[in-house]
Amino acid sequence: MFKTPLDVSGIRDDFPILKRQVNGQDLVYLDNAATSQTPLPVIDAISDYYKHTNANIHRGVHALSQEATDQFEQARQKIQLHFNAAHAHEIILTSGTTHAINLVASGFTSLVEKGDELIVSALEHHANIVPWQMLCERTGAKLLVIPMTENGTLDMEAYKQLLSSRTKVVFVNHVSNALGIINPIESIISQAHAVGAAVLIDGAQATPHMVPDVQALDVEFYTTSAHKICGPTGIGMLYGKEEWLRKLPPYQGGGEMIDQVTFEKTTYADLPHKFEAGTPNIAGGVGFGAAIDYMQGIGFDAIAAHENDLLQHATEKLKHIEGLHIYGDVAHKVAVISFNIAGIHPYDIGTLLDKMGIAVRTGHHCCQPIMDYYQIPGTIRASFAFYNTHEEVERFVAGVEKAVDMLR
Ligand SMILES: *Cc1c(COP(=O)(O)O)cnc(C)c1O
Repeated sequence: MFKTPLDVSGIRDDFPILKRQVNGQDLVYLDNAATSQTPLPVIDAISDYYKHTNANIHRGVHALSQEATDQFEQARQKIQLHFNAAHAHEIILTSGTTHAINLVASGFTSLVEKGDELIVSALEHHANIVPWQMLCERTGAKLLVIPMTENGTLDMEAYKQLLSSRTKVVFVNHVSNALGIINPIESIISQAHAVGAAVLIDGAQATPHMVPDVQALDVEFYTTSAHKICGPTGIGMLYGKEEWLRKLPPYQGGGEMIDQVTFEKTTYADLPHKFEAGTPNIAGGVGFGAAIDYMQGIGFDAIAAHENDLLQHATEKLKHIEGLHIYGDVAHKVAVISFNIAGIHPYDIGTLLDKMGIAVRTGHHCCQPIMDYYQIPGTIRASFAFYNTHEEVERFVAGVEKAVDMLR
């Protein structure tokens, strides 16, 4: 296994895609907040599953079905231990964060009524806004918003004012995908609990960089997507406290989620199967487990230290570019830099960087309310992973400088 400081060149050998060229240049992949790349051990785990084990789970008496079930359930246990959930059945395997949030927001239809209040933050991904708006439309509950401040942090004083005995659920991301800011979720959770509200934390952008402990956080729901942490797309998790998962009704009906079915009455399966209707993404679950093994093998302390070095390096260098403004430039953040350059559209910079083989994201990053707050069409977002290098930071900054020269 690797030691701190990271053996980045050894790590990069695990990621075949990082060796390819784009537009005739060596790829510099800085769009990790949209999706991370997949290392060979994860690709192999998925491929081995299909080569040797593929069968449907929880149904067959035959050996393959049993092995497939074991592998899928082992992955669930790995996820449980990684996030320190009290029970494996508190981990629901979903298709990702979006599915997980929809499952919870849909379930709350029977738990909120007209006049109840729900609190969201101004920094949310659309995935943590729209399902709750739909809940409000169904129930007549009201959506209140914790405002953001100029430096991209949440206005915690305003949050305190919004909370009341009418508050039923608070939903905030752990880390903002548009700005990289780490939100004070410990304080958000404890204040919500003080008024009797449940909390859902969207952890999709935090889990690539740190290991949340769901019991220490004492949070009701925590979500993430495997593809942000070196796993495959189409699989993710909803952690829910057992008592809350019991309160929520099933989300989808079908096979796997039932106990007894007759035309008069159907009884539901126990947790976690109650929320896993139909054949799940079995290979994806296996890949999710392999991704957690892989990240743990590298070590989250080493990952955070290296990413923080890259962040400081890139931030320092970018600030020398005239007219460049970084949004959310605070100390408590992960390796995401969201910026604009005066007089230049972010899309134009992104397009020129792509010609140089450098992949960044431009646009609203599924966070239009943040862009509205700053009154901008979008930003250029460079997001780093542990497999990025200081040479790539240099190429990226030189690329931005060159693009600015061409556009000015
Ligand atoms: C990526 C992301 C999502 C959406 O995840 P999906 O995998 O597309 O469901 C939601 N919230 C945040 C903060 C994200 O970074």
